[in-house]
Amino acid sequence: MKVYAEDLYRNETVKVGTVFVYRDMTKEYEVDKMKSEFVSTVSHELRTPLASILGFTELLINRELKKERQLKYLSTIYGEANRLTLLINDFLDVQRMEAGKQTYEKKYLEVLSILRKIVDNQKVNAIKHKITIKSDLNQAIILGDKLKIEQAFTNIIGNAIKYSPEGGTIQISIYEETETLNVSVKDEGLGIPEGESAKLFNKFYRIDNSDRRKIGGTGLGLAIVQEIVNAHGGKITVQSQLGVGSNFTLSFPKLSMEVQTSNNKEYTQ
Ligand code: ADP
Repeated sequence: MKVYAEDLYRNETVKVGTVFVYRDMTKEYEVDKMKSEFVSTVSHELRTPLASILGFTELLINRELKKERQLKYLSTIYGEANRLTLLINDFLDVQRMEAGKQTYEKKYLEVLSILRKIVDNQKVNAIKHKITIKSDLNQAIILGDKLKIEQAFTNIIGNAIKYSPEGGTIQISIYEETETLNVSVKDEGLGIPEGESAKLFNKFYRIDNSDRRKIGGTGLGLAIVQEIVNAHGGKITVQSQLGVGSNFTLSFPKLSMEVQTSNNKEYTQ
């Protein structure tokens, strides 16, 4: 089609062609999907403990109950309130990490004693499990932020317990490789379907199948562990077989010989 200058000067609408604008919506779609997963996870995960707190409080207020029963209900309320606190902390942690506002205060840490303490704390959740800790090293030291490292180990050991509903042995091992000091947590639980392993570290990602639907969670635990481990110059890997079990390994940069063999007892336990 020919376009004449006088048509343009006359300010008339002249169609000279069509411009197609293509926009890749994949990113927008992914963000929308994440937002809706977030909303449904948050509402489900916050509602469940809240409903139980409200229900038990109502019973305590409206019924004449024996002391023993009152204590039982109070301890459920306490447990659920604790669960809410942990959830909210997870949400806040993720937000802080995403905003790049998470700070790390690193000190030399003795890994074995940290793991022993975590295993002790987790024993109430691990009634059907046997948890062992094996170390190849006299002293396993890493440079890390104590609370964050504890949080990372707690999430991994907590998952090993949670996703082994039938029990079994959970074997924690500390060992060295050329460049790294590794902590692996091996369970005999549900395992992970092929092709899903890489996605587990995405925020809010949960494997959705009938074995797991009853097991609560936010899909944030492993994303948080990955952030923490990365911030320490390390990495997390997983090997797993569905129905057989999983082995999560956290690797940290190995420290110099002087630090490892030093008798300086100023390690944070
Ligand atoms: P959450 O446990 O809150 O769902 P995580 O980020 O910790 O979130 O884990 C993501 C998913 O990875 C879980 O939903 C679970 O299906 C799977 N998973 C994590 N750890 C294990 C494990 N030790 N064994 C089997 N599946 C696991």
